[in-house]
Amino acid sequence: MPPLGIRMMASLELALSAGELKLTSTDPDEQPFLDYRYFQQEEDLRRLREAVRLCVSLGEHERFNDIIESRIEPTDEELASDEDLDTYMIREVTTGQHISGTCKMGPDSDDMAVVNQYGRVRGIQNLRIVDASIMPDCIRANTNVTTMMIAERVSDFIKDGK
Ligand SMILES: Cc1cc2nc3c(=O)[nH]c(=O)nc-3n(C[C@H](O)[C@H](O)[C@H](O)COP(=O)(O)OP(=O)(O)OC[C@H]3O[C@@H](n4cnc5c(N)ncnc54)[C@H](O)[C@@H]3O)c2cc1C
Repeated sequence: MPPLGIRMMASLELALSAGELKLTSTDPDEQPFLDYRYFQQEEDLRRLREAVRLCVSLGEHERFNDIIESRIEPTDEELASDEDLDTYMIREVTTGQHISGTCKMGPDSDDMAVVNQYGRVRGIQNLRIVDASIMPDCIRANTNVTTMMIAERVSDFIKDGK
């Protein structure tokens, strides 16, 4: 059982690194291959390093003296250099982002766009996709209500014959 304590979480929104989802089978019940590819971009490491160091310095503020006895992690060794901190972050990082954006919305000029601005699947008539998969990027808000709003918007498009 890990020691009880205060936990601060640093969250990197709008990360530049992008993962990949690949179908492994034509059977929709087969789990697809997911590669999150965290920290492929140096800028993501730099921003999260800054955030972790900010959390550490906040925890050291005198206002926390009464409730924080000592820092459990990252350790002083893990904070010693950017390389050490990178090793810690790469080991500990996870994602809180909900899966989305696997068939994104975009203009005709975007080869990776699956649907257009009305949710219509490019190259196929009378088929729309209206769910979290058409988000062009991982959003910073929660996905549930955002998905509902996408549905409200596209239902208006359908009523308007767009
Ligand atoms: C554990 C968990 C916690 C979450 N917590 C939050 C939260 O606190 N706040 C938040 O904003 N978001 C949260 N989310 C994310 C949010 O629920 C999703 O982003 C959102 O539901 C996505 O909507 P969607 O319409 O794309 O997909 P879904 O809501 O998954 O809807 C897909 C629908 O398609 C149906 N379906 C699947 N296959 C077929 C088929 N072959 N034929 C017909 N129908 C089919 C399914 O039954 C389902 O009803 C959470 C998700 C999970 C898993």
